[in-house]
Amino acid sequence: MDYGFVRQRVEEVRARVEAACRRSGRDPAGVRIVAVTKTASPDVLPALHAAGIRDAAENRWQMARDKLAHPAASSLDWHFIGTLQTNKVKYVVPRFAWVHSLDRPELAHALSEEAVRRGVVVNVLVQVNISGEAQKHGVAPEDAEALVRLAHELPGLAVRGLMTMAPIAERPEDVRHVFAGLRALMHELRSRLSLEALDQLSMGMSDDFEVAVEEGATMIRIGRRLVNP
Ligand SMILES: *Cc1c(COP(=O)(O)O)cnc(C)c1O
Repeated sequence: MDYGFVRQRVEEVRARVEAACRRSGRDPAGVRIVAVTKTASPDVLPALHAAGIRDAAENRWQMARDKLAHPAASSLDWHFIGTLQTNKVKYVVPRFAWVHSLDRPELAHALSEEAVRRGVVVNVLVQVNISGEAQKHGVAPEDAEALVRLAHELPGLAVRGLMTMAPIAERPEDVRHVFAGLRALMHELRSRLSLEALDQLSMGMSDDFEVAVEEGATMIRIGRRLVNP
């Protein structure tokens, strides 16, 4: 696969992020474009890097392995964004700087233990099911505080913010309230727990990232729009 088209895709997304930032009075430097490579071959990595991307994400360890073996993988920061089984934690901790999908105490303990064992700290985001859809992963909004507190106390974790997946919507405007809800929850928890470091909002994908940026996203997770031919 020739990934020559990737540069233009990155430029398009960047221009749209900048426009969304102008509309909402934000600094584009505060929005990290995280390229979701799960559907692409490892050959996409040098193309992404050449286009200025520094963050890449995978949602399954099995799919991540091939990407991580590519020489270009080490020039990127890796984010784990899918459901994470505790028996995969030993593979994920050494290779991923970020885990966006912290959704249960058991996983927090497993990640922290592995991080301590390896002398690293894993940046974690608590995944919240803002929309309340039954099939969506993540904790209910009212349970986010307990998990943020736990992650803050564990020595191997740096709790940095919240992540959500919006429901599939016909128009991005229809999910604006989901992004606004995640932002409101983060601000509430940050002040209630006096946790200045809780400042990352991972929200927005290929079809709704502009609305997410307008609502305060600091990390947008873009797959298809960047890497699908
Ligand atoms: C696949 C995936 C994305 C990217 O979705 P696109 O619609 O391809 O941009 C973002 N977040 C998660 C958790 C994903 O699994």
